[in-house]
Amino acid sequence: IDAINSYYKTANANVHRGVHYLSEKATNAYEAARQTVADFIHAENKSSIVFTRGTTEAINLVANGFAKKVLQAGDEILLTELEHHSNIVPWQLACEQSGAKIKVIPINTDTGELELTHLDSLLTPKTKLLSINYISNAIGTINPIKHIISAARTKNIPVLIDGAQAMPHTSVDVLDLDCDFFAFSGHKCFGPTGIGALYAKKHWLDALPPYQGGGEMITQVSFETAQYHQAPYKFEAGTPNIAGAIGLATALNYLQQLDIKKIETYESSLRNYAEDQLKTLSNYKIIGSTKNKASVISFLHAYIHPHDIGTILDTENIAIRAGHHCAMPLMNKLQVPATVRASLCFYNTEEEIDQLINGLKQAEEIFS
Ligand code: PLP
Repeated sequence: IDAINSYYKTANANVHRGVHYLSEKATNAYEAARQTVADFIHAENKSSIVFTRGTTEAINLVANGFAKKVLQAGDEILLTELEHHSNIVPWQLACEQSGAKIKVIPINTDTGELELTHLDSLLTPKTKLLSINYISNAIGTINPIKHIISAARTKNIPVLIDGAQAMPHTSVDVLDLDCDFFAFSGHKCFGPTGIGALYAKKHWLDALPPYQGGGEMITQVSFETAQYHQAPYKFEAGTPNIAGAIGLATALNYLQQLDIKKIETYESSLRNYAEDQLKTLSNYKIIGSTKNKASVISFLHAYIHPHDIGTILDTENIAIRAGHHCAMPLMNKLQVPATVRASLCFYNTEEEIDQLINGLKQAEEIFS
């Protein structure tokens, strides 16, 4: 908040345009923010980072480019049953445009893990992209993405990772993962809303067409045609969210200094504690028995609707999410309309878990 405030107070101008002092200061801060994002996810350089409104826009940017330049009728995009709507709907739009089809890796409804025995047969010569989340925002499963990426790699199939749920909870190294694309949102890692980024390998940034047209992204314009800037600028049409990018970089620097490995260890022990406590309540059931889970616990009560549980917990100042978590196909597969989801973070404590458990007991008393 201070970083955003400071930008508006001391450097409020557009980037890459003006020759005056404020514009130069804004441009330097915006480009430094791009470098911070690149460093945080271990990208090769800052040119491989495109600022977007978030994960949704990042995936739409790739899907739009694929629809125009890559996909043809009969091609396939491979997704999983764990995906957020933002990694489903853009591909539906791309398929409508191109005649390609969506294929889906199923999950095991008991463990909440992907059924990877199907992976090899689903990666076919028609598969033009595998687009998969790193961690499920709905049930917390951590996908074995290194294994999945290398399976796709052996068949020369590019991979997009939706990293929205992974960024604040685990260390991300896009070069080590060897993914082609990586998308994430600022608000999921303590940054502002309406900012995020897309990482892409250089050959994709060169090959894909601009997502939007306008100022900033061109070198020459006539009424007949336009020439575009090099990436990442050709993907950033119009005045960008400068304050948002600066805020995001400040949040990432904060996370970096906390040590993401320590965060991972602490959150994992907190989740174990919460799951153990939840298991002592007979009418509550945790979705997904896998141990490969981030600090997201999705659960159900035998007869109380998740929204009612959410409302009762709210009166105790406990904020959980109740609903489909933007993952309706997953809810359908689990045959539930919604779940209760507690999403834990490094600032949460065991005492807060105890409060949550008390709140859940209260909900049961009220409805019994
Ligand atoms: N993917 C996952 C796994 C998410 O958790 C979210 C956000 O909740 C998104 C995609 C969409 O992010 P945004 O709405 O910031 O674009």
